[in-house]
Amino acid sequence: MHSFDVVIVGGAVMGSAAAYFLGAADPAVRVLVLEQDFSYQRCATTLSVASVRHQFSTPENIRMSMFGSTFIADIGRHLAVDGQAPDVWWHEAGYLFLASAAGLPVLQANHAVQRAEGAQVQLLDRAALQARYAWLRCDDLAGASLGLRGEGWLDAYSLMRAFRYKAQSQGAVYRQARAVRLLREGRRVTGVELADGSRIACGQLINTAGGGAAALARTAGIELPVQTRKRCVFHVRSPARTPGCGLVIDPSGVYFRPEGDGWLCGVAAPADRDPPCEDFEVTHALFDDIIWPVLAARVEGFDAMRVMRAWAGHYDLNLLDDNMILGAHPEIEQLLFANGFSGHGLQHAPAVGRALSELVLHGGYRSLDLSRLGWERVLRHQPLRELNVV
Ligand SMILES: Cc1cc2nc3c(=O)[nH]c(=O)nc-3n(C[C@H](O)[C@H](O)[C@H](O)COP(=O)(O)OP(=O)(O)OC[C@H]3O[C@@H](n4cnc5c(N)ncnc54)[C@H](O)[C@@H]3O)c2cc1C
Repeated sequence: MHSFDVVIVGGAVMGSAAAYFLGAADPAVRVLVLEQDFSYQRCATTLSVASVRHQFSTPENIRMSMFGSTFIADIGRHLAVDGQAPDVWWHEAGYLFLASAAGLPVLQANHAVQRAEGAQVQLLDRAALQARYAWLRCDDLAGASLGLRGEGWLDAYSLMRAFRYKAQSQGAVYRQARAVRLLREGRRVTGVELADGSRIACGQLINTAGGGAAALARTAGIELPVQTRKRCVFHVRSPARTPGCGLVIDPSGVYFRPEGDGWLCGVAAPADRDPPCEDFEVTHALFDDIIWPVLAARVEGFDAMRVMRAWAGHYDLNLLDDNMILGAHPEIEQLLFANGFSGHGLQHAPAVGRALSELVLHGGYRSLDLSRLGWERVLRHQPLRELNVV
């Protein structure tokens, strides 16, 4: 039986970030990354809107995003291979969270948390908002929160590839294979069984299997409260002009941001129309029923908006509180989880990859203390709720 110090199941952005940070911290660690689909066509990473914000309500999320944008801005230094620096097409532009009068107290409370964590954010009243964005219809708004530094978007696939190439250059082995069962002896995970029946032994195993994480955990007797939810993204064009536009979040939950010669936009389906999902069919009714009416009313010229293409991806949603589950389960050893990222895992991948390497190599966090995002709150049913979920 082959044996590795660390086996990572799921080789998209999270698994590859973990593989990179492990190899960077300790070149002697033998890492195997198992990925069932090297085309990466359907993983959340590839289908992501790939945007980065510091505007969360949970301090840990803010700090992880701040580390993420600093890492991404300097990615050439971190992830160059043989002198070749990757380009992840990082574009800095602030998020703009719009608030009605009813939503203003939450916006202000989140703002206070963000400032306390060192995020560069600014509250705008309606007059300041209108003066700054002439194309925005503000009559029903009470204010907004704007990111001034470190927010923006990038190319998600390029980020994942950059982590992967660098990890491979450090010695990590990538293998296209599906993990079907975790091998458990008493309290310890000792290896993994693959779809072809072969087995691989390991010192530690990391579950970064995204939408496949709960099924994998179940094979070791662990119930991971993470389910997939479909999220549709529409690439639109219109004659509108939106100078200075970053990623705008309407109070309705509809978001949009510039992309190429148009904009990307989307919204989460209402809870009663948002079941666990397996298919990748676009729900076009979301655009007709919710997105278009909101955007046509919000932006001068968006009523002439036309969908050029659309796709659907899967969020891995932690049903308890929309925050990730990170680290070890108290009932099982040598198994680490990094799951339930909802719509904010891409920007947290550098921080999570670093955190996982610390857990493997030191048995605890050395940089950011992310222990509140561990299993304990889940098992006690004490949510650490993230209020700013997009
Ligand atoms: C439409 C959409 C928009 C988003 N927008 C943003 C955004 O703007 N900003 C942001 O930060 N985040 C965003 N996200 C979320 C972000 O993309 C994800 O949180 C992040 O990519 C998760 O990465 P991951 O590696 O954990 O999971 P994934 O990218 O899903 O990768 C999991 C991998 O595991 C593999 N796998 C699964 N099971 C097995 C198995 N049994 N054996 C072997 N391999 C297996 C899969 O093939 C897959 O490649 C968005 C997501 C979606 C769907």
